[in-house]
Amino acid sequence: MPVLLPLAFLLLQYALFAMSTSISRPAAYILMVVAPLLAALALAVRGRRERSASRMGWYAFAASLAIWSLGAFGNLWQELILGRVNEMYRASMLAFNLAGVPIAFILAGDWRLRIRPVAEIADAITASALGFGFFLYTWSMLTARGEPDEIGVTYLVWLLDTQNLFLALGALIRWYACDSPEERQLFRCLFIFQALYLALIFYNNHFVAGDANFGPEQSALINVTFAMVAGVTLMRVDAVSPWRPDARITRAVRSASPMLLAGALLLVSLFLIRINYPLGTAGILIAIGGYTLRTAMNQVVHIERGDILQRERSELQMIAWSDALTGLANRYFLDQTLNRIAEPGQPLGKQLAVLMVDIDHFKMLNDRYGHREGDNCLRSVAHVLQKSLVRPDDLIARYGGEEFIALIHDVDEAGARVVAERLRTAVEALAIENLGAPLGVVTVSVGAASAQKGFRHGARALVDSADRALYDAKHAGRNQIRSITIS
Ligand code: GH3
Ligand code: MG
Ligand code: MG
Repeated sequence: MPVLLPLAFLLLQYALFAMSTSISRPAAYILMVVAPLLAALALAVRGRRERSASRMGWYAFAASLAIWSLGAFGNLWQELILGRVNEMYRASMLAFNLAGVPIAFILAGDWRLRIRPVAEIADAITASALGFGFFLYTWSMLTARGEPDEIGVTYLVWLLDTQNLFLALGALIRWYACDSPEERQLFRCLFIFQALYLALIFYNNHFVAGDANFGPEQSALINVTFAMVAGVTLMRVDAVSPWRPDARITRAVRSASPMLLAGALLLVSLFLIRINYPLGTAGILIAIGGYTLRTAMNQVVHIERGDILQRERSELQMIAWSDALTGLANRYFLDQTLNRIAEPGQPLGKQLAVLMVDIDHFKMLNDRYGHREGDNCLRSVAHVLQKSLVRPDDLIARYGGEEFIALIHDVDEAGARVVAERLRTAVEALAIENLGAPLGVVTVSVGAASAQKGFRHGARALVDSADRALYDAKHAGRNQIRSITIS
């Protein structure tokens, strides 16, 4: 159906042309207004359906064809209504030129970046200046010797070819380098349109336009392009193509595309400056200003994203390093810290003590009061243990179920015992009820292992020794501390 529609349109067009000239001439003028409008409608419908950021591209494409249709209407007005024949009309020429503006805008855009409106406005202004500048230049070439003449037309035709080639190549590159399926459909459609447009305009201008009986029926050949666009646009492309361009090419094209617009305007302005100094200069300023503005805006977007990523990264890092129940450092963090302090074979830089703290009869507490109370107890104990460590360098981590480990720097065995005792009494002072235990409250046993500076078996070895000391404390009756020094 989507292919039949444009085909039917073309059949109708050439059927009408085959009739008498009294019908074919007005039909040709009207169809050249209607065909791009219908294609624009199809593109707008496609844009409405589009969920991705490339929706804007479809709308811009539609706008281009609508502007083109305005140019065709200008011709219709001049020739069909006012009765002039085969001339160049300034307003129509302007419209045909400006039709390239939305296309240039699409080619420059990086839809996935979701650029700021300011950057989009900068692009739109640059693209418009490009369209006007190009028009001024082409028109001045056409009328350089007064009324449009043969040489002027030749210039004009080549300039138009250049413009069409520029847009077609741009669309091809964007299509080729595109890695999102939605965008690919946009650029594919745009390229098919621009390539066909380039070919047909070239053919018309170089081979047909000189003919004595050249009329709107010949020009109306261009409607093939619009019918094609409508067909391609409405065609459902469900199968996502497996095409994956080289990521480096994609990145290069994405970052260079905006430059294309500013570059083209600079080039056109440089030509224009010879003919019209103020406008040429204005074009150069717009090119530089627009590019600077959109680059600055994008930079802002990138910096913002970088900040967000950084923040998310540190939040994730915090989650990865902490224990969900108690909020203390977790075992993973503790292991990393121990490895950082000294791996086996590496001498300790200063004295170090590891205290292993284990809640006594915790299973009983869980069994008697339930796991919720057990968890609350773990939180309270964790909190008080953390509070009892006063030096900023000291670390307390949850090692396992109801086991905690404290890392204390710069202390000998006597010092470690003082800290261990402080931890034990702090927990006892909480007086959390645990009626199954001998004292009737929650207590902890602590095993402490200390090592002198220069100790070579790695910081983790202290954990094993602290575990053994803890075992002794448990066996000696719990709610007490045991310590050893290893060397
Ligand atoms: P001991 O005095 O010998 O240390 O006896 P205990 O009961 O404290 O030691 P045991 O190792 O037999 O039991 C530890 C219990 O800790 C087992 C488990 O039910 C409990 N536990 C471990 N992790 C959690 C936790 O995250 N929440 C709760 N509520 N209980 C936990
Ligand atoms: Mg235990
Ligand atoms: Mg225990």
